[in-house]
Amino acid sequence: MRERIKASNEIVIKVGTSTLTHPNGSLDLQRIDVLSRVLCDLKNAGKRIVLVSSGAIGVGRNKMHIDTRPRTIPEKQALAAMGQVTLMTVYSKFFAEYGCNAAQILLTADVINHEESRLNAINTIHTLYDFNCIPVVNENDTIATKEIEFGDNDTLSAIVAGVIGAQTLIILSDIDGLYSDDPHKNPDARLISQIDIIDDGIRAMCKGSAGSLGTGGMATKLHAAEIGWEHGVETVLINGEDPKLIYRVLNGEDIGTYFKRK
Ligand code: GLU
Repeated sequence: MRERIKASNEIVIKVGTSTLTHPNGSLDLQRIDVLSRVLCDLKNAGKRIVLVSSGAIGVGRNKMHIDTRPRTIPEKQALAAMGQVTLMTVYSKFFAEYGCNAAQILLTADVINHEESRLNAINTIHTLYDFNCIPVVNENDTIATKEIEFGDNDTLSAIVAGVIGAQTLIILSDIDGLYSDDPHKNPDARLISQIDIIDDGIRAMCKGSAGSLGTGGMATKLHAAEIGWEHGVETVLINGEDPKLIYRVLNGEDIGTYFKRK
């Protein structure tokens, strides 16, 4: 099954806050450097790459030395505005070193649900490929309200992959993949290599919660895989510790958890 991943030419890669930051909340520059290099290299090889990156709120918090989750919505939105600038500055710098340009796309759900703005977003992304760019997508946290939010970037990445017609979504997380039970609590928990159908049994396995910086957890990853399944996107969940694993995923190797598409 994984053989068909090899043929993907449009790929969405989602990276979570915990992968982009050290445990103390500051940016893990070495990891972002490796990630940027892999993405630019894939672009050089002719792949069309979109990066969905979290981290805005986490980086904003770090700038303001705030240890806890923001309490109010304006606080969260202000931290996202601050952090997003730093994130894009860092991506721009590393991408430029590897000969690519970074471009920022901030989305809210209403953009995707409205046909004209959705088409605009798709056309922009396609034009950015031609401009030697890697579009870096995030939720537009500074204006998102309940009515128009995606809520988490796992969901956002799957929606983006579906809308642009990507074949593969790779989610980089702080865990090796989906386990049969919480591996931090149960030493017998085993990594599940492939999931053909997401049913209640699988959902029950995804009870893990998010780290303190991100929003997701396993439930949102499963939700992303379900959206991917619906839209003909293969989803692979891997550990983001070493972004070079992306090469192995795209080589069809048995790594992480692979969610088959419909
Ligand atoms: N959009 C949020 C940020 O950039 C992250 C949401 C998520 O982690 O799922 O901080």
